[in-house]
Amino acid sequence: TPTDKTVLKNTKPFKKINLPEELTSNETFKKPRKSFVVIGHVDAGKSTLMGRLLFEVGAVDGKTVNNLVRQAEKLGKGSFALAWVMDQTSEERNRGVTVDICATNFETDKCRFVAIDAPGHKDFVPQMIGGVSQADFAVLVVDAIGGEFESGFSMDGQTKEHVILAKSLGLDRVCVVVNKMDKENWAEIRYKEIVSQLNQFLTSCEINFDSSKIDFIPISGLTGTNVAKRDGKIQEFSWYKGPTFIEYLNQVDTGKEAITSDIDTVLQESFRMVVTDVHEISNSDFEITGKVDSGVIQPGETIHVNPSDEYLPIQSITLHEKPINVAVRGEIVSFMFKKSNLKSKSFEDVRRGDILSQINSPVKAVKNFTVRLNLFNMKKPLLVGTPFVLFRNNYSVPARLSKIISIEGGKKKQHLVSKQVATAEIEIRDRPLPLTNYEDTKTLGRVVIRREGITIGAGIVVDL
Ligand code: GDP
Repeated sequence: TPTDKTVLKNTKPFKKINLPEELTSNETFKKPRKSFVVIGHVDAGKSTLMGRLLFEVGAVDGKTVNNLVRQAEKLGKGSFALAWVMDQTSEERNRGVTVDICATNFETDKCRFVAIDAPGHKDFVPQMIGGVSQADFAVLVVDAIGGEFESGFSMDGQTKEHVILAKSLGLDRVCVVVNKMDKENWAEIRYKEIVSQLNQFLTSCEINFDSSKIDFIPISGLTGTNVAKRDGKIQEFSWYKGPTFIEYLNQVDTGKEAITSDIDTVLQESFRMVVTDVHEISNSDFEITGKVDSGVIQPGETIHVNPSDEYLPIQSITLHEKPINVAVRGEIVSFMFKKSNLKSKSFEDVRRGDILSQINSPVKAVKNFTVRLNLFNMKKPLLVGTPFVLFRNNYSVPARLSKIISIEGGKKKQHLVSKQVATAEIEIRDRPLPLTNYEDTKTLGRVVIRREGITIGAGIVVDL
């Protein structure tokens, strides 16, 4: 129930609209929106595949690609042309999304997609955590070339860490793109070998994907074979009867239908959004961008910002830089606010990772909470009191273990070791962290912990 304070702060939408009508009439909301994060070893061919995909769906034109091919050939790097598509368009792609991850929007006749690049370098894992938290499933690109595939999966391979992270952050579906099949002459035997090894790896107890949620597709991002179409001339590839990569993307079930076929549920949810970007628009206005986690909200309504505890009336909402009458679950939108409505001195008190919510159901911001923690491989034990970095979506804060409540299948001790499952209390060593119980909102109730640059565990919030 709203308190007096929130009633006072409550403001009405500027426009009186019929929400179901508004949502069904908007063409944009008729196609399901699917987002995926692209992970894989450096040089596996992620950028090339993304360039190819954008070209095939018509997001970049043939002229641009031809120009890039010519430039690349001049430098003796012809094969890099497609990867450059991504660099060329990156400025445009980044606009209105986030600064630290690359999200590319494109659409087919059936769906709208957001492809999120996870930077390959080890230091970028924190950004990857942010990227993964916005995705519905993972696309894992592996290099089919003999030897390359094996080295990408060596014990300390970052691919492994990325996969573990993706799974612990809640992605339960992965599509493995077996790339560079042109170099292996499309040999079914090589493909099957990779499928079998990866199946074993992905379903191992450490990673624990459900085998029904792992799919494999052999392709060549460079030649384009089996990305959008198959080349009937390649006899060696006639054994393959599955979908092309784009057919797969269109068909894959992410558990989320188009908003237009799920309106009743959406209208009942309370509005939640994680902030991905905050910036100044003018002397008097600023903008907050993020992906709507649940519910709907309209210009004129007031939202609550946690942990800065601001109540801000929304001046306007934009989607792909066009004004809209309602923001809805799944969309990456920007809200404009007046600085004069802030109680704090600066809009910069609102930060990436903060949570916006409907004023009658604000999320909690806490300094202490209880988590069910899964520990990964650790070189040394995790003691009560040792500092680490805690991640929730794209937010990271210094934290530490303040208490071990219980250890599964073991006696209670003052430290945790590799592969244990424990219930423990975590203390935040910064301003309070906005958080929900996992039971309440899955996407906002997961945390990952890292120490000395290595991911050591992941958990779900069980008590606040
Ligand atoms: P990233 O680091 O994963 O983004 O990899 P890139 O897309 O930059 O590709 C690395 C190298 O592999 C480049 O030289 C690409 O031309 C090459 N490459 C990518 N995909 C294919 C493919 O399907 N076949 C072949 N033969 N080479 C490829």
